[in-house]
Amino acid sequence: MSDIKLDDLVSLAKRRGFIFPGSSVYGGLSGMWDYGPLGVKLKDNLVQMWKDFFVSSRDDMFMVDAAIIMNKKVWQASGHVDTFNDPLVECKKCHNRFRADKVDLSYCAVCGEKNSFTDSRNFNLMFSTSIGPVGDGVGEVTVDRKLLEKKLRETEDELINLKSDNESQVYLRPETAQGIFTNFKNVIDSFYPDIPFGIAQHGKAFRNEISPRDFIFRSREFEQLEIEYFVKPENWQEKFDMWVGLIRQWFEIIGLKKDMITEKEIDEKERAHYSKKTIDFEFDFPIGKEELMGLAYRTDFDLKNIENHSKKSMEYKPKDGSSSYIPHVIEPSFGVERFILAVLSSSYKTDTINGETRVFLDLPFKLAPLKAIVGPLVKNKKEIMDLSLKVFKELKSIVPDIMWDENSNIGKRYRRADEVGTPFCITIDFQSLDDDSVTIRHRNTTEQSRMNYKEAAEYIKKQYLNVN
Ligand code: ATP
Repeated sequence: MSDIKLDDLVSLAKRRGFIFPGSSVYGGLSGMWDYGPLGVKLKDNLVQMWKDFFVSSRDDMFMVDAAIIMNKKVWQASGHVDTFNDPLVECKKCHNRFRADKVDLSYCAVCGEKNSFTDSRNFNLMFSTSIGPVGDGVGEVTVDRKLLEKKLRETEDELINLKSDNESQVYLRPETAQGIFTNFKNVIDSFYPDIPFGIAQHGKAFRNEISPRDFIFRSREFEQLEIEYFVKPENWQEKFDMWVGLIRQWFEIIGLKKDMITEKEIDEKERAHYSKKTIDFEFDFPIGKEELMGLAYRTDFDLKNIENHSKKSMEYKPKDGSSSYIPHVIEPSFGVERFILAVLSSSYKTDTINGETRVFLDLPFKLAPLKAIVGPLVKNKKEIMDLSLKVFKELKSIVPDIMWDENSNIGKRYRRADEVGTPFCITIDFQSLDDDSVTIRHRNTTEQSRMNYKEAAEYIKKQYLNVN
């Protein structure tokens, strides 16, 4: 287990503008998180690196960006309406609800009551909403919440898994994968790629998790990066192994320590019924060893389902004239939030500088939200301020993710920069006025070197362009 405390990460993330509890000004909303300025940058960098590595640098990958709300038939065909459930229990005393497979059922952790739980029942995790001008409009509905909750409990069995036949009912997608499968034929028809090829999608997914917990690890709104890689049925094993190799490379690129990752092959009994092989990549999170991402061989399950439900052929016609067939699929599925948490856990370090404990994020250059901070040694000398601003502007035109910082003393600035993983701090001092040189301080070693400010800009630019 990681020796980093989750609370330290949550506190750093909030204090330094990475991630805030969602709707915090109104008391929050469970399972929802907002990204602040540095969180947006970190997330963007992660997603961009993912796209560069898995999509842009390859010639067998395509991206789609499907609508979040899809025809309800998508979720009926995929099995989500019937089976995307978690087991739910409710304490008969305090009425708090829990995921039955995640709690000790001998007593209620909230009110302490022993053996107080209802029988477990299936709770569908999809968020339902309606589309089009139906009902009275959200703003006009007035309900007595307490009465509604009581009624809900009374008629639990019917209500929990209500499967409405209402035409206007739709779901927020619980995964991005189905937006890929439903566009399989569109991509074939417009690009006619050779097999194997993959379709990737990045976007939001929503799950009404019974117990959202552990910071962003289990959220109700999160982002996925998913790929469906279409292969000839007889080649699945070879391509599955290829994906294991690519995923291992990806972990290295984003700086996840090897010894924090476990590859767990899932037993047949525990695997989704459509999967012939699944590997969960687990990470030593501060909360313990938990799933970071998954890799599954899904056979032709999804495309066949779509064919059956839509009555449209999902066959691939090889260019060499051989018989058409439904491709099989290897699916690597990455969760952005879990990667952010893994990256923070893996890069969070402390050391002692001049007798003081220092926290720094040892982020790879490309992931770091800020590449450098620039500032004057002192604020009260006009020439130094003028030169500092000039250096800042020139640097920023070359490497955009650079921040100006003139607040507090230089030591505190360095600590702030370290804490958000900024690789370099550039300071303009008295000597700079004589020879245009600046100091450039390195985050991990805290060592400083002196160079001409144009050289410093080139140095950082080189990192920007060359470092993976
Ligand atoms: P778990 O068993 O942890 O609930 P899962 O097996 O249901 O996860 P998948 O359906 O395989 O997850 O989803 C693919 C990936 O999406 C996961 O590996 C994870 O990275 C991410 N993910 C799934 N659910 C959540 C969530 N509630 N919050 C954040 N990320 C999630």
